[in-house]
Amino acid sequence: MIAQRVKLLNPSVTLSLSEKAKELKDRGNDVISLSVGEPDFPTPLYIKEAGKRAIDENKTKYTPVAGIPELKNALIDAYEREQGYRFDPKEIIVHPGSKYSIFLAALTLVEPGERVIIPTPYWVSYPEIIRFAGGEPVFVPYWDKGSFDLRYDLFEEEIKKGVKLFILNVPSNPTGVIMQEKELVKLLEASLKYNFYILLDECYRRMLYDGHTFPSPLKLFPEAKSRLIVSGSFSKSYSMTGWRVGFTFAPAEIVKYMNRLQGHSTSNPPSMAQYAAVTALKEEKEEVNDMVREYQRRRDICLQLLDEIPGVETTKPHGAFYLYPCVEKALKGKYSSTEEFAKALLETRFVSLVPGEAFGTPGFLRISYAASEKNLREGIARMREALR
Ligand code: GLU
Repeated sequence: MIAQRVKLLNPSVTLSLSEKAKELKDRGNDVISLSVGEPDFPTPLYIKEAGKRAIDENKTKYTPVAGIPELKNALIDAYEREQGYRFDPKEIIVHPGSKYSIFLAALTLVEPGERVIIPTPYWVSYPEIIRFAGGEPVFVPYWDKGSFDLRYDLFEEEIKKGVKLFILNVPSNPTGVIMQEKELVKLLEASLKYNFYILLDECYRRMLYDGHTFPSPLKLFPEAKSRLIVSGSFSKSYSMTGWRVGFTFAPAEIVKYMNRLQGHSTSNPPSMAQYAAVTALKEEKEEVNDMVREYQRRRDICLQLLDEIPGVETTKPHGAFYLYPCVEKALKGKYSSTEEFAKALLETRFVSLVPGEAFGTPGFLRISYAASEKNLREGIARMREALR
């Protein structure tokens, strides 16, 4: 009865865990949710005001499928300001959330049976989207010599076997690591030599710590422009998860077909959210930087607390807002898997974290520090208790 293509899909673990946590909370439990990657800050006031203004001015109708020109231009200007490259308006499309950017890019580019490299651990939706498009996910671990390292040579063997797409998420969800400049150049060179596309998911680009930077691929190696699809989002940087605004920069031919698909599936992204997004970009002062500074502070607190738990091994993330400690030693003799531990932690101590199984790497746990310091301290204390 149900079509095979959707039967193949697994539910989104991050979203289902967040729903489960909400359910437990609604039943009166003292739940601490450190599972979903969602900023705990309200959307900045100046953005909310712009959304309200758009509604009051009746900007509540269909817009062009690829987004209003004001937003496309503001995004083009912002990209040029931050990354030194100016795209043409034909090379951008705005979506209802950046998940839809990944979804459309995969459906537009990947033919059935084509291989797609997914550095592992990966964000939960990549494999599902690639399978839905008919592609074959190729999972390549980037855990090497005791740390996560997005090094080109770890992927080369699979690249040489032939791939259509490489999904690069920097800084990464769930590990928070970035790819170093020289490795990025190697990957960009390889995309031309071995003829594949790079889907660069930059939704955490604004969240970088300790002075780390992630260079612009087009500044470093503009020759690879025909191979690059850049996906971005307002959700994390501007704390706008519910507004649903994401975007893609890509060669015009790719954007043209993504536009067709979007036109037949969702039409345009929400009109008022697009106007709010224009204001987010144009009138930003210190709002984003303030949030980023706070994330870094919380990251450091959590690292210290986790390091005090016997058997928990942390690595310091460069960006995003997740910690991804290895807890294998801590679980030994107590729980048979991180999945079992996460389930027990939620059901008995009401703390929700995402087990590494969801990201293709059992033995790890993802903790989102986009939560208040109080909740982080309490959540980690309960986790410590559960591991005792
Ligand atoms: N991307 C966030 C996360 O990994 C939000 C939830 C989702 O869309 O998966 O938690």
